[in-house]
This record gives sequence, C-alpha cells and structure tokens, in this order.
Amino acid sequence: MIELICNYIGGQWQESESRAVFRSENPANEALIGMAVDSSEQDVAAAVAAAQAAFADWRAWPAPRRGELLYEVARILEERKEELSRLMTREMGKVIVEARGDVQEAIDMAYFMGGEGRRLNGYTAPVEMPNKFGMALRDPAGVVALITPWNFPCAVPSWKMLPALVAGNAVVWKPAEDVPAFSAAFTQVFADAGLPAGVLNLVLGGGETGAALVRQPGVRVISFTGSTETGLQVYQTAAALGKKVSLEMGGKNAIIVLDDADFNLALEAVTWSAYGTSGQRCTACSRLLVQNGIAPRFTAALIERAKTLQLGDGLHEDVQIGPLVNGKALEKVGRYMEVAREEGVTIAIGGQPAQRQAGHFFEPTVFTGVKRAMRVAQEEIFGPVLAVIEIEDLDEAIAINNESIYGLSSSVFTTDVNAAFRAIRDLTTGIVYINHGTTGAEIQFPFGGTRGTGNGMREAGLTALDAFTEWKSVYVDYSGTLQRAQIDNR
Ligand code: ADP
Repeated sequence: MIELICNYIGGQWQESESRAVFRSENPANEALIGMAVDSSEQDVAAAVAAAQAAFADWRAWPAPRRGELLYEVARILEERKEELSRLMTREMGKVIVEARGDVQEAIDMAYFMGGEGRRLNGYTAPVEMPNKFGMALRDPAGVVALITPWNFPCAVPSWKMLPALVAGNAVVWKPAEDVPAFSAAFTQVFADAGLPAGVLNLVLGGGETGAALVRQPGVRVISFTGSTETGLQVYQTAAALGKKVSLEMGGKNAIIVLDDADFNLALEAVTWSAYGTSGQRCTACSRLLVQNGIAPRFTAALIERAKTLQLGDGLHEDVQIGPLVNGKALEKVGRYMEVAREEGVTIAIGGQPAQRQAGHFFEPTVFTGVKRAMRVAQEEIFGPVLAVIEIEDLDEAIAINNESIYGLSSSVFTTDVNAAFRAIRDLTTGIVYINHGTTGAEIQFPFGGTRGTGNGMREAGLTALDAFTEWKSVYVDYSGTLQRAQIDNR
C-alpha cells in the first residue's frame, strides 16, 4: 500500500478536507513515488490559522533559543543527508551529487541563520534631543507564505524558511507539486528538531493552492521562487492586497569567454553551467558569448565535450545528466527546437529527447549561429540547451548580457585583470563570476537578480532577513519634560 503524502498543519499530518490527491513520479523511470494531498482553499485557511495561533508564542521565544533550534535542524539534516538526497533524486531527477549539494545548502543555511539568533542586529544612532535614546529593531512580519519550485527542493525553501523562522515568523509553505515526498521529509526534520506545533505548516498542491495562499488575509509576506509568468501573477494579486512580496524568477545567464581565457577551465565551466541539473537551474548558463578569435575551436571542443556526458538515472554515481522534471518540461524544451529552426539557427548537437525506454530525457544541445535578438537568445528555455553567440570584444559581450530582460548571473573567463575588473563594474546582473561558471552561489552572500529576475529583494546572506522583518524605530525620552521635538510634532 502506498502511503499518502500529507499536509502538516498545526503539528499534525493530515489529509485534505476534500480528499483530493495527485501523483508524484520519478522522472527517470515514471515509477510512482506516492500520492499526495491536493490542498483546497479550506486546507490553506486552516494552515494560516494554525500559523497565526502559533505566532505569538514563537515570537516570544528568545531569538538565541530559536537559533539553537536551527542548529538542531542542521544536525538532523546532516544525519539524514544521504536519505534525503536519494529521495530528492528519485522524485525530481537531479543526479545524486547535486542532490547532496542541495541538502548541504540547507545545512549551511541552518548554521548561518542559527547564528543570527544571537545577532539579528538592529542599530542605535545619536538623537537630536538631550536625555533621549533611539534604536531601530527588527520585528517579525507575522505569518509568511513560502512558494517554492522543484529544481532546488531543499536549498530554495531553506533560504526562505530559516531566516523567516529565526526572525520569529510563523510559516506556511507550499512547495512545488513535483516534490511532495521530499517536502514532507524536510518538514519532518523541523518537527523532530522540536519546532512548536503551527510554527511551520506544509500545504501540498499545485498552482491553485499557491494562489489561495497568496489571497489569505492572514498572510503578510509572500516569498516566491519560480517562473516569471507565475511570479508576476503573485505580485499583482499581492499588490492589490497590500502585501509584501519577494520574488526570484527567470534567468538567461551568459558566460563570456575572451580569447585570452584559460581554454580548458572555461570549457569545463561552460559544460557544467549549461548541462548540470539538465539546465534546470535559474543560474544555468544558456548563452555562451565567445570571442571570435577562439570561437571556432572553443565551440568544436564544447560539442565534443557535450557528446561525452552520461545521461541516466541520477541515483547511479557515474551518471552526469538526469532527466527533465516531467513530460511538460520535455515538451517545452522540444518546442524551442522548432523556434530555433524557424530562426535559422544550427542545432549542432542534440535537439531531441534522448531515446530511452522511459523517463523524460533530453539530449544536451548546442545551438550555433545564434544572433543576440533571437528568441533562443532571449527566452528562458530551462533545459540542457546552450546558445552560442560570437562576439568581437568584451564591450559587445557586456552590452548583450545587459540587454536581457533578466539579470541573475553572468560570468567572464579571461586572464586579463583589467578586463575582469571592467566586467565586474559593468555587468548588471545580481551575481557576477570571474573565471567560474554561472552557478554555485554561497549562502552568506545575497542571491537574486536585477530587471525581470526579481523585484529588488534578495535571498540568502543577511539580506534574507529583510523580506521577513519589519523595522521598528524606538525612542525613549528620559528627560521628564516636553521637549522641542514633541512640540514641533515631527
Ligand atoms: P515552474 O514553471 O518552474 O513549475 P511555477 O512558477 O509554475 O514554475 O511554479 C513555482 C511555484 O509556484 C510552484 O510551487 C507552483 O505550484 C506555484 N504556483 C503556480 N501557479 C501559481 C499561482 N497562480 N499562484 C501561486 N503559486 C503558484
């Protein structure tokens, strides 16, 4: 008998009041992972009510104790790392080494945010009047809603959940419908660490469940990671209701390889940035801007390198590229092959689903002869597809990078220190790498993008706290008299 993957509301694992369910499948072989609860509006309301009820007590916990609970989360995650990683690979397909890295991000974040329990710094500043004191403090926002995608089932939720919790918020989490089993196992870690009932609530389901959560009057903040289309819908709904929103959306990230680059280093970095996680990372490299002096040799080497990549079930340690997450993703990537043909692009390698008995595999693909304004150079494909654009020089590459509607990650390979610093100054993405691929952010630095990638908020680093806290300015007047500031009514 397959066990039902349930919601976690007010400290109880529960079915939907509607009894509706959906399937979770292994994308490598289409085997059933489990049936999961498809939450209704009422389930979502119950989760928000549970969070509201738990908030006052959780907020009153001394922050250092909340931080210690996060250390316990980190410890349990370390203990269960292999088990969680294997479940992740089975449920969404990324290869096992990447799944381990995904869980490790949550461990790192739990230690980092656990430490914030003893900081959560506010500040004091001098004030204008004698015998008066001023300070600014971070207050928790209240009940926060987290809506997350399937491509980083552990890292992305942890980037949101851990800062939200240490700051004293109560959470309702709606993970992607492709990863219910993993999300339940991750939630269990917090329960086992001793998080009080109702402080973290899990509601499983699809887009309608997410939309219901955004609408809930009790939700003050929404932190969303996913597609641009959905993110903008969430933004509009939330704006009309006066809620705070943090958005992380699409990317169309470029690696610039100049003629003087370390050839092999750049080749490996481009390969893994483009094809790691089958290109299904918001920071994946989907545009190679290669200088014309080395372009023919570099592109030829890249095509040969892509041919060597081992596709298969990510549980096997020697497999390098797993499947796409589901049939819909496979169709979407396939449609871009039509777009490429219509635009007159050469599909130098790949261009079709990989022939296998089951699963949603797509061959690593290289497009050559791409021009900067083409759809395949502008739109996020979210698959193992790399568009090669030849450039004259760094200035042209920077202009191409910066004209994208997205602005998440970019990278330059060069041995010229002057070119490297010009690139750091002039690239307008939220993350810039020098002599490193476009992926691999570390949790202690802000993560996020400019332009259409986000709405100015950042995750990770200490900046993560900004989404989940309100500043409170406090003035203490110990003069015992009515001073001028009060008379001026400022
Ligand atoms: P993807 O195309 O990568 O699956 P989505 O943006 O559709 O990305 O999904 C990201 C998250 O947003 C998922 O948890 C999904 O269920 C949720 N979601 C989808 N549609 C909506 C919506 N209209 N309102 C709120 N959340 C949604």
